[in-house]
Amino acid sequence: MSSPAPNALEVLGTPIDRLVGVTPVMAEGLHRLGLRTVLDLLFYFPRDYEDFTDLRTIRSLEHDATVSVAGTVTDLELRRGRRPVLGVLIEDETGALRAMWFNQPYMHLKFAIGQRVLFSGRVVLKGGRWQMAHPRVQWLEQDEATTGGKILPIYSLTEGLAQWHVRRALVAALDLAADLLDEVFPPEFLEQHHLAPIRWAIRKIHYPGDQESLAQARRRFVFQELFILQLALAVRRQRLRVLGEAPPLEATARIDARIRRLLPFELTPGQQQAIAEISADLNRPFPTNRLLQGDVGSGKTVVAVYAMLLAVAHGFQAVLMAPTEILARQHAATLGRLLAAGRVRIGLLTGSLTASERTELRRKISAGEIDLVIGTHAVVQEDVEFTKLGLVVIDEQHKFGVRQRAMLRQAGVDPHYLVMTATPIPRTVTMTLFGDLDVSTLRDMPPGRQKVNTYVPPVEKREAWWDFFRRKLRAGRQGYVIAPLVEEAESIEAASVQSLYEALANGELADFRLGCIHGRMSAADKQHTMEAFRRGEIQVLISTTVIEVGVDVPNASLMTIEGGERFGLSQLHQLRGRIGRGSHPGFCAVFADPQNDETRARLEAFARTTDGFELAEIDLAIRGPGDLFGTKQHGMPPLRIADLTRDGALLEEARDVAVALVAADAGLARPEHARLRRMVLARYGQVLELGDVG
Ligand code: ADP
Ligand code: MG
Repeated sequence: MSSPAPNALEVLGTPIDRLVGVTPVMAEGLHRLGLRTVLDLLFYFPRDYEDFTDLRTIRSLEHDATVSVAGTVTDLELRRGRRPVLGVLIEDETGALRAMWFNQPYMHLKFAIGQRVLFSGRVVLKGGRWQMAHPRVQWLEQDEATTGGKILPIYSLTEGLAQWHVRRALVAALDLAADLLDEVFPPEFLEQHHLAPIRWAIRKIHYPGDQESLAQARRRFVFQELFILQLALAVRRQRLRVLGEAPPLEATARIDARIRRLLPFELTPGQQQAIAEISADLNRPFPTNRLLQGDVGSGKTVVAVYAMLLAVAHGFQAVLMAPTEILARQHAATLGRLLAAGRVRIGLLTGSLTASERTELRRKISAGEIDLVIGTHAVVQEDVEFTKLGLVVIDEQHKFGVRQRAMLRQAGVDPHYLVMTATPIPRTVTMTLFGDLDVSTLRDMPPGRQKVNTYVPPVEKREAWWDFFRRKLRAGRQGYVIAPLVEEAESIEAASVQSLYEALANGELADFRLGCIHGRMSAADKQHTMEAFRRGEIQVLISTTVIEVGVDVPNASLMTIEGGERFGLSQLHQLRGRIGRGSHPGFCAVFADPQNDETRARLEAFARTTDGFELAEIDLAIRGPGDLFGTKQHGMPPLRIADLTRDGALLEEARDVAVALVAADAGLARPEHARLRRMVLARYGQVLELGDVG
């Protein structure tokens, strides 16, 4: 170029359509992917790679080897008929090879004479000619095998955009601007954490050349991505402390003794520990943001009760939000029993109150005439005004992202927040989605917790299972039958519960008292049914997943799950968590028709272990993190390159470094952190409400 050295930022900001070889049609496709500038392109990482390091010239082929061969199409031949055969002849400088497709006549539409392609597969020598049957095919740009190296990137595409379009644009972008990228980290930092320099890594992440370089380049960008995320979370944690103001709630010896006297059982060591951690938090003048996680049945409620009573003891209000009305009622009943003798005033705020009841309760809450409010998320968040809110507990939540948590606010001081998970979360996920929270974990179960035996019986064992189920019912136990999950609508789900109920009432469970519960019923009907079940008047409850979370009926020890293939692993685990809560061992059978390996793996894991933490890790490994991270639910932007199932170790490293850095420079205010700060704000500033950090 004859003009003076261009400004790097300007070049990186070059619109894609000005790149050499990028046509308007290609640019339009790239725009649809949200890519506008050269810089955008550079950081559009491949979703996968094709490894052609086994690329051979035709002359060097060996019979029966699995290889890749690049060449130009010189002949196409389609033999039609009952068993159509397509032959595609390709040539390189050293010879010719014929690829064959049987019974796939449409394949010929994908080829044209003169095209460059890459075939991978097993090659055989037949009658002196090289042949490959049903190879994998890559359509190459004219000069691609030479520019591309032997590991080709595969990008996510969109309509009207071909793989080679993105590749060509990337080659141009790398040529133009790879060497203009500024390093994010100082040289000592790169060395210390074994990170490749950015200019090298950006080339290798697109065109690695070999697997080792790919691993190095990937490691660098994974670290960078996780590091920026962890910085953002650490900054947020810090900010919540500095900015917020909350009432310190000290657990004095007197208060502590008064609360413990109310609790009907000895706390487990895990509960003691969690209470100690939470009390230490609550005693500080800024808002607690703590996640309490524990397996189903590990006794999270009582920990929350302790914290709420601590707030009340200091003259503050506390609110407990549950995801369903059944659960809100159950909590209200539990608290009502515990506090029957005391002066604590409890209000239950749910959708089934009449308008005037609701108005009255709201009035009392805002007048400070209620100490403990229990309700469903939906209703409490509506527009309840508290006078002196000290603590918010969010129960059984795993859908709650960082953003949705900060909803209840009042003028003046902020409340403390305690979030309780519905189900154990894999460690890598806790560190990301909930990375701005402090975490307490209940690892042990309350004493006397019964084992739940789990079976995935074949159909021919159905009768035997129901025999067993009936025997246990006659011995005084109770049970659940879970209807297959229906995604579409509550009305269909209701029908499915109804028909299952009828089938059982006229069949396997004809001699027993059955009840039904599903999302279509009115809150009052649900409540009625649950109470009848709790009292034992109903022996078997036919249900949808409305009983999935939290429901606690200790005498229920049996569960049959129908259509088990439709449930996710954490959902199955939640369902099973309803039984084995009393003094009798639990028995759970899942009838399922697994259609694929993933489902089989899930069911097998479910039958093998009842450890929710283990199941959470298995679930993440089976499903991948896709559903967990980057969904709108959590409001966080998706990860572009890191993968929580495989990058756990790097995540830990990135987190430690980020935490240390923020401890030393809370607002990333030092000049040497200006670049990091810009990156953090650009990606997470809004979603994590980081303001301008400062
Ligand atoms: P989860 O963690 O699933 O919310 P819960 O708080 O509902 O669990 O507790 C499950 C059951 O265990 C409840 O019946 C509760 O009363 C009982 N429980 C909790 N802690 C203890 C304990 N320390 N000793 C005996 N029983 C306990
Ligand atoms: Mg619970």
